[in-house]
Amino acid sequence: MPASSAVTSARTILTRLHDVMASRHHVQAKLNTVVEVIGEGLDSEVCSIYLLREGMLELFATKGLAQEAVHVTRMAIGEGLVGTIAGNIETLNLAEAASHPDFSYRPETGEDKYHSFAGVPIVRRERAVGVLCVQHADPRRYEEVEIEALQTVAMVLSELIGSAGLVDDEDAALSPQQTGPVRLAGLALVKGLAAGVAVYHQPRITIEHVMAEDRDAELQRVYLAFDKMREQIDRMASQAEFGVGGEHEEVLETYKMFAYDEGWSRRIIEAIDSGLTAEAAIERVQQRTRMRMRQIDDPLLADRMHDLEDLANRLLRIVSGQMGTAASMGLRQDSILIARNLGPAELLEYDKRRLKGVVLEEGSLTAHVVIVARAMGIPVLGRVRGLRGAVRDGDPLLLDASQGTVTVRPLPAMTEAFEARFAKSKERQAAYAALRDVEPFTRCGTRITVLMNAGLRDDMPNLALTGADGVGLFRTEFQFLVSATLPARERQTRLYRDVLDAAGNRPVVFRTVDIGGDKVLPYLRHNDGELEENPAMGWRALRVALEREGLLKVQARALLEAAAGRTLNVMFPMVSEPWEFDAARSVFESQREFLKKQKKLLPEAIRYGAMLEVPALAEQLDLIAPRLSFLSIGTNDLTQFLFAADRSHPKLAERYDWLSPAILRFLRRVLLNVAGHNIDVTVCGEMGGRRLEALALLGLGIHRLSITPASVGPIKELIRKIDLSEISAAMKQWLSSPPPNMREALTLWAQERGIEVD
Ligand code: PEP
Ligand code: MG
Repeated sequence: MPASSAVTSARTILTRLHDVMASRHHVQAKLNTVVEVIGEGLDSEVCSIYLLREGMLELFATKGLAQEAVHVTRMAIGEGLVGTIAGNIETLNLAEAASHPDFSYRPETGEDKYHSFAGVPIVRRERAVGVLCVQHADPRRYEEVEIEALQTVAMVLSELIGSAGLVDDEDAALSPQQTGPVRLAGLALVKGLAAGVAVYHQPRITIEHVMAEDRDAELQRVYLAFDKMREQIDRMASQAEFGVGGEHEEVLETYKMFAYDEGWSRRIIEAIDSGLTAEAAIERVQQRTRMRMRQIDDPLLADRMHDLEDLANRLLRIVSGQMGTAASMGLRQDSILIARNLGPAELLEYDKRRLKGVVLEEGSLTAHVVIVARAMGIPVLGRVRGLRGAVRDGDPLLLDASQGTVTVRPLPAMTEAFEARFAKSKERQAAYAALRDVEPFTRCGTRITVLMNAGLRDDMPNLALTGADGVGLFRTEFQFLVSATLPARERQTRLYRDVLDAAGNRPVVFRTVDIGGDKVLPYLRHNDGELEENPAMGWRALRVALEREGLLKVQARALLEAAAGRTLNVMFPMVSEPWEFDAARSVFESQREFLKKQKKLLPEAIRYGAMLEVPALAEQLDLIAPRLSFLSIGTNDLTQFLFAADRSHPKLAERYDWLSPAILRFLRRVLLNVAGHNIDVTVCGEMGGRRLEALALLGLGIHRLSITPASVGPIKELIRKIDLSEISAAMKQWLSSPPPNMREALTLWAQERGIEVD
């Protein structure tokens, strides 16, 4: 049958069903009419509806089978053809029903005269709540268009069933894979444990109405939604904002391909033509695609299926006006966020008291979203394959981001074991907290400076909680990221002043804005709006600030005013050549002159520092060192540039080790280059917050670390167990003749001395 007749047959049935649904009859009477209408419409002697009741599929209405069987015949999930359809959420279309291995004969129904059989699941919230089937005396397979008509009707029935409360949603039939516990593995991005319920960052849309009142209006809505969605996708491509840290190009290509796919839009339009609302039509087409994809066992295709799901969900959100993320709807207590990936700003929108964990399909250790989560003390598990297929909204989860697993729908015994681990980890936390007022001296008596990284006003209480020596890196761009527009100077001044007030007499090092890379500001675009192929190596950080001098001037004024009467520590990110440092410094100096002329109170002193993140600067350190008060090594970026490996690229997340001789030797050379210049050298990348890595840094001669607040306790504990001369000697030897695996060598060294490093 050509496509147009499919539309006609579905439309004829739907038009008649519309009247049935609108009638004031009792539900049972409606179901009785529905089976008549469908049986006639599909020229079938039998049409039956089975609904899930108390865990069994019960015959609720039939045309053609014995009426005495209604509410008597019941099948278990997985039993017979009907049970198989519900259990697997799949369609069956058989010319000879009895020859199917799952066929089970029910004499009370009198079905022995019928040969052909076709059935579709009635799905609600992704679960089968019933089965709609047709049977015919002649052995024939139903045409695809007839099956599609059945599937469309099943959607309408699902709405009727839901609104009439005919099945208990909790009763829904699930395949064991969907109900039983599943343990998924991933990469521990922020260690920690959390128990809670799964919340999708982008929730699935609930479809209120399936049958359209006005077909033209529905068509109009979907046309508009398509336009809007394509516009969004094009904009994403031009800003490269999408897929932060993901294989964005590939993903975007696929998105574009689907967004402009004629076949996809045509099928949705056909579904509307058959009488569905725009939302139901999108969902209908999606269901069909899902069913087809399920039959193809290809992980690559499954990935692409996720892209299409994302896109269909986006289209649904546009058409239904349900645009918000879970953040805008408010989180319930103890939520664990599920997403393909997130941007740092998106994460910051969540209520941190309720958000207990994050599980991502992508993600990498130094992606900014992960840095933000680390600062918020929220465990993150990344690189979890098949996540969105295995977890449903509301599923209970046990997130063990220390061991790199998440357990979905755990059994009670699993929860018990988890709670025991949780209690242990809390004990450890308490032990770290007890170190708050203990100064971090090594065993040999060297005082190590342990600072913390911060970026928001909310981070400042951590200073008192951890007992850190100050803030070694204040990422000022976070204020820009959480703001919808460029923060005005007064707002910036207020923040910086609050931060300094909160720090009291402890120092704070402000880093001027580092935007670009994976920190994209929608309101600050590249001049010519061109897509950047390598944003991490592109127009970012100091490069932006020097080109948009206004931006840096405003920030300089805000910092100078906020630090009036105190010492201002300011550093510049991504300095590649000495002149860039000089140029940035002179922006501050001219602002200082200006304020001086205005007779404003000035900072008592200004200490200027540079971040060492671009290897090129390392080669000119002796030239710049005399102008520096301090140097801060940003190992996150430094590593990505040394290895030419995008720090946000999920496939490279585990590839290069901070403990590789290349990095450690490089750092040693940096220290040698600045020796004798009397400047403080701090490591402020994520590396310094990990114990084994910190051990190596101490061994290299780094005595200042600026780390995420949660690491302050564990690192202090480590410092107190170290003898610097011992670890320095070991490092010296390993760096001149590196062991096959530096990580193993260091771990062994620590174990032999009873030093905990994980
Ligand atoms: C770094 O690159 O190591 C660093 C500390 O800066 P950010 O992570 O903000 O780029
Ligand atoms: Mg950096």
